Amino acid sequence: MRTLIFSAALPFLLFHASSHATDKAPPVAIAIHGGAGTLSKANMSDEQEARYRQQLENAVKAGHAALKKGHSSVDAVVAAITLLEDSPLFNAGKGAVLTFEGAHELDASIMYGKNRMAGAVSSLRTVKNPILAARAVMEKSVHVMLSADGAEIFAKSHGLTQVDNSYFTTPHRRQALDRALQKLTFSPSSTYSIDTFDYKFGTVGAVALDKHGDLAAGTSTGGMTAKRYGRVGDSPIIGAGTFADNESCSVSATGHGEFFIRYNVAADICARVKYQGKPLEKAAKEVIHDVLLPAGGLGGVIALDRHGNIAMPFNTEGMYRASINTQGEVLVEIFK
Ligand code: ASP
Repeated sequence: MRTLIFSAALPFLLFHASSHATDKAPPVAIAIHGGAGTLSKANMSDEQEARYRQQLENAVKAGHAALKKGHSSVDAVVAAITLLEDSPLFNAGKGAVLTFEGAHELDASIMYGKNRMAGAVSSLRTVKNPILAARAVMEKSVHVMLSADGAEIFAKSHGLTQVDNSYFTTPHRRQALDRALQKLTFSPSSTYSIDTFDYKFGTVGAVALDKHGDLAAGTSTGGMTAKRYGRVGDSPIIGAGTFADNESCSVSATGHGEFFIRYNVAADICARVKYQGKPLEKAAKEVIHDVLLPAGGLGGVIALDRHGNIAMPFNTEGMYRASINTQGEVLVEIFK
């Protein structure tokens, strides 16, 4: 009798189990940033704030839409970052900061947590979307990092859109360079100092988790205003500005790159998750507030783990940031 009841109930149970499984799509999540720095409500008009918020929302939604369609985390990171690179509001692609000599030199990187493949480019001058060049290095070369002329030739050979260097210039960045040049004093050995002016980092980045449970991270930047001598920041350095590993987390950073390189920030956060078993939020906060800040390093990160946990700590006044969590909740924030 018991067997009979059970077998009669089985189809019902199976139906419910399977319909439940299809209702519940695997969780996807994404977070992006558009730089950190001296960003306070008092220094920003309502109109400016609205424009930034709109761009952040557009970018995070573009990345999320890719994830919802079943595309990879790499696709989602690239979808979000190319939008931010094309926006003149951020320090990446169009709107990138100017070097000491008044030109643009762009850096970008991307990493896939599934297999720890990575691609990076530095000191690009004519590639419209550096994140696409970083992706091409990851997927179409045997190398991880290409720089300057070699990176340009490689990007061209893969058909990436090229523009004149002046395409990236905006009046706002020109004024920022003029102000910086007035304030910065260089000794012959030229120590770069940001202490003399309010610094707004404007790098862009994204981290994503796709339906297969694979993480990715990417970062793109013009670097720092008035940078000199082919300076390369943390953004194209795997482990410093960008890191992704399915076994721990994915991170994209923004801030004073020299510190992020020396403290290996992105990889350090993931190492704390992996080897110390720390929750993502705790690991990310520790590195940004307890390691970087006492050393004098300003900036922040976005971080995401395989469970869809998102952390976005920063030790500056603000950080442009947005996320869509596994519940589909959209968050767009600028200030503390
Ligand atoms: N981290 C970048 C760099 O040092 C700057 C930024 O985040 O805006 O090149």
